[in-house]
Amino acid sequence: VSSVEVTEAHIRRIAEVDGEINAFLHVAGEQALVTAAEVDRQIAAGTVASPLAGVPLALKDVFTTTDMPTTCGSKMLEGWVSPYDATLTTKLREAGIPILGKTNMDEFAMGSSTENSAYGPTRNPWDTDRIPGGSGGGSAAALSSYQAPLAIGTDTGGSIRQPAAVTATVGTKPTYGTVSRFGLVACASSLDQGGPCGRTVLDTALLHEVIAGYDPRDSTSRNVPVPPVVAAAREGAKGDLSGVKVGVVRELHSDSYQPGVIASFDAAVAQLKELGAEVVEVSCPHFEYALPAYYLILPSEVSSNLARFDAMRYGLRVGDDGSHSAEQVMSMTREAGLGPEVKRRIMIGTYALSSGYYEAYYGQANKVRNLIAQDFDKAYETVDVLVSPTSPFTPWKLGEKVNDPLAMYLSDLCTLPTNLAGHCAMSVPSGLSADDGLPVGLQIMAPALADDRLYRVGAAYE
Ligand code: GLN
Repeated sequence: VSSVEVTEAHIRRIAEVDGEINAFLHVAGEQALVTAAEVDRQIAAGTVASPLAGVPLALKDVFTTTDMPTTCGSKMLEGWVSPYDATLTTKLREAGIPILGKTNMDEFAMGSSTENSAYGPTRNPWDTDRIPGGSGGGSAAALSSYQAPLAIGTDTGGSIRQPAAVTATVGTKPTYGTVSRFGLVACASSLDQGGPCGRTVLDTALLHEVIAGYDPRDSTSRNVPVPPVVAAAREGAKGDLSGVKVGVVRELHSDSYQPGVIASFDAAVAQLKELGAEVVEVSCPHFEYALPAYYLILPSEVSSNLARFDAMRYGLRVGDDGSHSAEQVMSMTREAGLGPEVKRRIMIGTYALSSGYYEAYYGQANKVRNLIAQDFDKAYETVDVLVSPTSPFTPWKLGEKVNDPLAMYLSDLCTLPTNLAGHCAMSVPSGLSADDGLPVGLQIMAPALADDRLYRVGAAYE
């Protein structure tokens, strides 16, 4: 089949099912077809840009694009078009990947259900009364409803992995600093990382190699070689994990998790042993403090990053009729333009950073962050990868947790330590839960810059 045919088929699929799923905030069929036609010409001329040239993709609406709006799921940026492409967007274009459109997300990537989007929730294709995870629920739902074969997400505290888990797709949070954040609208800069999503580990690896790499325009970008993730996925697909040491994190295996999730995880561990891996239990005692530390560090960074939405520079402006002061316009715009979860975090972060409280909250949280990194370092002295469930729960019903922020935050328990340490991790489908028949994900974690290990183990397991 030609790239144009593949792209057309996905555009048709979007038209058929996305009225119900709401994975896309913007569909760019015509532009995608222009890219696909160009790739078909390259194929005819024997000059293909990349192994994924002509394979269409869904892009989370937090990466800037000059030819489509970038809203971050917020009214604040409704209709805003960036004057420049994110580095990741440029890399997709250079690889000949047609961008089908921009996907729905929790506002400014804050949430675990995509219900915090100002444009309505995305629905989980497995059960449309349920959440698709978040914040990247749009990208995950686009994959699992066959609207796109590839997608891009961002993962600040689990927003690639948890949506992958609850939609039975694959998603990787790469090592911090290995995928450029230039043109990625910031949520929490020390945690944010763009990453690849797919329906198979190999597809995800191919996309990983397209988007990773040093970028001088991102001050935290690491100038190191991209780990050989495609070769690792091919190696893993042979199904032999002998010589690989896997650690089960005791603190991420709890009676408070859904029983079907624990049963699926235990079965996954048994399968890793059958594939030849040596499995040991390891303890990471500070992981229990990851959640409170994250929910101080993240809001602190959010309160600083979102100060740019001041009614002057971007998007929405309310009350600019000559009768209000600049401060009033700013405050009216923020009141109208930002949703409750974003406001909550800006207020928590402003408080945590204020004089007199900084040491007690932000300072303490950063100490915990170091202790978590030390737990990881100690564990990786004896094992190659760590495993846990990706999320304590299968997808819950829309509306169930949206008015209970703490219940929502609990769904991030297993994913947060990796972000705090700047390491990498992947979620791979781990069957359906015995208690409700809904998808469960297996999380595989590895040290910084050892992303290839995720793909070797993930491809062997899937
Ligand atoms: N669910 C987490 C949060 O609400 C993670 C978000 C993310 O990774 N962007 O902060």
